[in-house]
Amino acid sequence: MTRCEPTQTPDDIDIPALREKYRQERDKRLRKEGSRQFLHTEDELADFFETDPHSPPVVRDPISQDADVVILGGGFAGLIAGARLKQAGVEDVRIVEMGGDFGGVWYWNRYPGIQCDNESYTYIPLLEELGTMPSKKFADGAEIHAHCQRIGKHFGLYEGALFGTRVQSLRWDESIARWRVATHRGDDIRARFLVMALGLWSKPKLPGIPGIRDFEGRMFHSSRWDYAYTGGSPEDPRLDKLANQHVALIGTGASGIQLVPYLGRYAGHLYVFQRTPSSVDVRGNKPTDPEWVKGLEPGWQKERQANFHAWSPLGFAGLVPGRADLVCDFWTEMIRNVAAKVERMGNPQLTPEQLGAMLEEEDYRVMERLRRRVDGIVKDPKTAETLKPYYRFMCKRPCSNDDYLPTFNRPNVTLVDVSASRGVERMTAKGLVAEGVEYPVDCVVFASGFEISPRDQRAGWGIEVIEGRNRVSLYDHWAHGYKTFHGMTSHGFPNQFFTGFTQGAVSANTTSMYEQQAEHIAYIVGEARRRGVRIVEPTQEAEDRWVQTIRDTAIPSDFLEQCTPGYYNNEGGGDGGIRSALGEPYGPGFYAFDKLLQEWRDDGRLEGLVLRR
Ligand code: NDP
Repeated sequence: MTRCEPTQTPDDIDIPALREKYRQERDKRLRKEGSRQFLHTEDELADFFETDPHSPPVVRDPISQDADVVILGGGFAGLIAGARLKQAGVEDVRIVEMGGDFGGVWYWNRYPGIQCDNESYTYIPLLEELGTMPSKKFADGAEIHAHCQRIGKHFGLYEGALFGTRVQSLRWDESIARWRVATHRGDDIRARFLVMALGLWSKPKLPGIPGIRDFEGRMFHSSRWDYAYTGGSPEDPRLDKLANQHVALIGTGASGIQLVPYLGRYAGHLYVFQRTPSSVDVRGNKPTDPEWVKGLEPGWQKERQANFHAWSPLGFAGLVPGRADLVCDFWTEMIRNVAAKVERMGNPQLTPEQLGAMLEEEDYRVMERLRRRVDGIVKDPKTAETLKPYYRFMCKRPCSNDDYLPTFNRPNVTLVDVSASRGVERMTAKGLVAEGVEYPVDCVVFASGFEISPRDQRAGWGIEVIEGRNRVSLYDHWAHGYKTFHGMTSHGFPNQFFTGFTQGAVSANTTSMYEQQAEHIAYIVGEARRRGVRIVEPTQEAEDRWVQTIRDTAIPSDFLEQCTPGYYNNEGGGDGGIRSALGEPYGPGFYAFDKLLQEWRDDGRLEGLVLRR
């Protein structure tokens, strides 16, 4: 195997000047209303998301049934939880899902160009267990969706799944020791256990642009792509019906970046309304090498996920001389370059401050490399300047795409900078207004993201009522921050389990986190059943202790405070303050948490949980 080499990043940079520039660029975009600048799909624009463009409407009568486990959400979080629960011997697992099939984000998001931005060999879960391998490094959305279906079939999760079904309320019913799950179809499901697996990117959101309702053309969100309007299909995204159309794209995050090459190629004219540029690196996508696959040893995927975590800025916990960078791409470049520098210095013992300073310097250098990359590709200097990101690497989701920047050299593509007005100024019946200029368009595509910034948990989950024991609302219980035991259970909410970013640990690879949580939840449910226990709930003391552990090990938030606004930092604070989209993670990190959970399970006493028959 060839060694993954460090990259050359520019050293002719003025860090204090850049730091000041980053600050100015952030301040220019800060909005005092923070995440309240968005419209939320449950209020004004519900009709945007009512219809499912990918499946015929589900028609069925309401059901009234008991179930051992109800999982809310059929994306990777729910599927992995379902798989592990089945393996733990729970037969009656019922997934309730809004979409017409499994897949979660990979069900809804079928826009042209959709691919996984993380290497698929680490991102796509259960590859070894299911004996399959993605066709390329960054797999297409359709391939990932097919894998979701594969998990569903393999573990028998289609049986009893309720698609096209939105949960409206969850109420603990002490008299039967079950959760009553009410859906918009009038179902009454009485679940012994509940697993919340609603994911982070499930609820689309729209910018609160004044006049948005006045627009008379077609508009849709990137996660509800309207192929009937644009022409083409997910399998063959030739958007031929756009040939004479003027199209506006709002949003240049990970979704917008993937869309631009397709819209630029097919639209009569494309206006890209950009508030903040993404960093866009070389993609380097390539087919999976069958020789490499042949040489893989059992356990390779877990090892690769851990390796990716160690080399990614999200998971980095110190240098280990001699450790190979297996993933070797734009995610791992920064740490790789610092590791190479330290190796050239003879691997001295560095203090955390020294290492931190080296990482910060390399961050500026990597971002400078990416800015110069723009100059090398985009011909118009003003457009090139507008496309340059001025913030630290992990302030926004880093992107890679080989066709994005060249699209701005096309005569039918115009970049409209809306940073000075902190977003698109207004919409009219005919189009969009920016800097006082009206851009008439036929169609507006919103790649404006998802309900991620934790404005409040209710908005993120879209479930109106969650009431535990004594009718206490979970939303009230968490009003001033999460209160959990190990991030997965909460006092007063028996038999309810949480997945995702609460008070667990963050992996650089999200699906690894779902695997960790699924294993733990399946263990607890399996043990409860084995011991003939009907109710499992953390004690107040266990919850308090865990919340304290989280506070004591919290990673300081200065990094996020200095970042340009976005969902990573709750839109820069404003209303609601700086909050990480990654919840309140356990400071020692993902693998330390893994060990802690493993030891807790090995101990076998289920310490911190009360078990009732
Ligand atoms: P994001 O939240 O990352 O981006 C939203 C975009 O909309 C930003 O560019 C934002 O600008 C812009 N925007 C919001 N309001 C306005 C406004 N009023 N005027 C103009 N622009 C506005 O959403 P995405 O859907 O792109 O990505 C969300 C996440 O989903 C990703 O970070 C990633 O985790 C995941 N994802 C993963 C993919 C993959 O792996 N392939 C692909 C796509 C998404 P600003 O930055 O200034 O706020």
